[in-house]
Amino acid sequence: MEVNPIIEVEGLSFSYNGGEKVLDNVSFELHKGEILGVLGPNGAGKTTLLKILLGILRGTGTVKVLGTDISSIPPKRLAKIIGYVPQEHHIVFPYKVIDYVLMGRAPHHGMFSLPSRKDYDKAYRVLDDLGLGSLADKAITEISGGQFQLVLIARTLVQEARILLMDEPVSHLDISNAVKTMSLIRKLVEEERILGAMVTLHDPLMASLYCDKILLLNKGRVETYGSPREALNPERLSQVYGVDFDIIKYNNRYILVPII
Ligand code: ADP
Repeated sequence: MEVNPIIEVEGLSFSYNGGEKVLDNVSFELHKGEILGVLGPNGAGKTTLLKILLGILRGTGTVKVLGTDISSIPPKRLAKIIGYVPQEHHIVFPYKVIDYVLMGRAPHHGMFSLPSRKDYDKAYRVLDDLGLGSLADKAITEISGGQFQLVLIARTLVQEARILLMDEPVSHLDISNAVKTMSLIRKLVEEERILGAMVTLHDPLMASLYCDKILLLNKGRVETYGSPREALNPERLSQVYGVDFDIIKYNNRYILVPII
């Protein structure tokens, strides 16, 4: 059965330890075939929102994943549906890339059982698909940040995740690797290898180039939610970031540039 929207959030609020609301009445939907860009200044609540969708934190309001309330999805099942690419990675152990990617199979057979021949085949196939085959035997600590980002995406594909959540996947990448990463997410959505993706971004340019919808958060509230054309208008962005923006048209997309 096909469920759409694949993520549905309605009136979501959250505060840490009974403090001030970090998310306040947030509503949006992620539809099949979409990349949703989540923007907002530091502290806006983007990471907290992702943590709620991963089942790590629980707020008030409605959060549905593939049509089911997140509170009634067992953690192991949620881990199979949602693939998460975190913002910070402190990898100290020099795992081989192939072994690291194989960890994506953990929700399928438990952390401590050995991967099967089939799991290995799958992991090698995904690495080859993403043009990373030559990295398979390299140590994870010895590849570049851009390559590591792609390896993290490979891991979610090996996991057979249906929805991808990514926390600032391109913030620390050069423009070539940023484009490579975002283009890969686009391709995965277009080829229906994943149902959809939610990506937190800092750069309005990347957001307007790659995202179908934008959720702009400010101090935990939805400043705007809609198409890049609707959501990323100069007035709204200036209000949120305190910088003036101009708008230019490029390839039928509207791009915002800060006025300096
Ligand atoms: P963003 O990802 O948009 O930068 P976050 O979701 O990380 O925003 O943070 C939103 C707000 O919640 C910030 O004010 C931050 O200080 C606060 N916050 C984040 N994590 C915690 C925590 N573990 N305990 C208390 N407050 C937190």
